[in-house]
Amino acid sequence: MDIQTSEGTVLREQLTFLLELQKIDEKLEDSEQERADLPEKLRAIKEDVGRIERILEQERQQLAEARSYKAAREAEIAEDQELLAKAKHKMSAVRSSKEYLAVQREFEANRRHTSEREDEIGKLVEAIRQFEQSIKTHEEALAAMKSDVAAEEQATARRIEEIEGAVSAERGEREELAGRLRRDVLSKYNNIRRRRKGVAVVPLGEGGVCRGCNMRLPPQLYNIIQRAATIEQCPNCHRIVYFEAAEDLGEATEATD
Ligand SMILES: [Zn+2]
Repeated sequence: MDIQTSEGTVLREQLTFLLELQKIDEKLEDSEQERADLPEKLRAIKEDVGRIERILEQERQQLAEARSYKAAREAEIAEDQELLAKAKHKMSAVRSSKEYLAVQREFEANRRHTSEREDEIGKLVEAIRQFEQSIKTHEEALAAMKSDVAAEEQATARRIEEIEGAVSAERGEREELAGRLRRDVLSKYNNIRRRRKGVAVVPLGEGGVCRGCNMRLPPQLYNIIQRAATIEQCPNCHRIVYFEAAEDLGEATEATD
């Protein structure tokens, strides 16, 4: 085994570690994304709760107004009754037909006024019935939503715990792998990941095309990469590129595809 071959073996192993590291980083990213998205569903349900609470508040206010309006109309009718009693009393003391007509008019006006109030009360009774029904429906919906919120909060808390467990295991795996990587290779990888905000190690496609940016690599560089004796980067996007057919990378590359 000459120096070149053993160096090549080391680099191929490093590349395998890099690909594993990349897989773990992708999992970590997914976990963190899911963790960040979790409160969103809860926020949407809580918004619905707030909306129903506002509707209920408005309906309760309308109900109170309708009830007080109805009470006022009822008081007016009671007043009419009193006036009517007084008019009837007057009637017994009537002497002339002129007086009689005046009291008759009073009766008539009183009757009309009472009848109008009764119509209003009828409408208010219907409005009150509708408000009460709507309030009941909204109260039931609200209770169901609040129990949804409670269930969702529990589910979210459970899922967060699961994710945190997975993340901590993945971080442990990452640390172990990072320890097996050469310092320069690791820092190159970390820099690319930071800069590209994503995949840092990509296989070459047919004819030496970088699968990160789709640029065709110069043939000379392609030849070097095929020998898999060095860790090379795409001159365009700077991602680490590797030749997929390298037999001892077989397993790792299949899994990343
Ligand atoms: Zn590229």
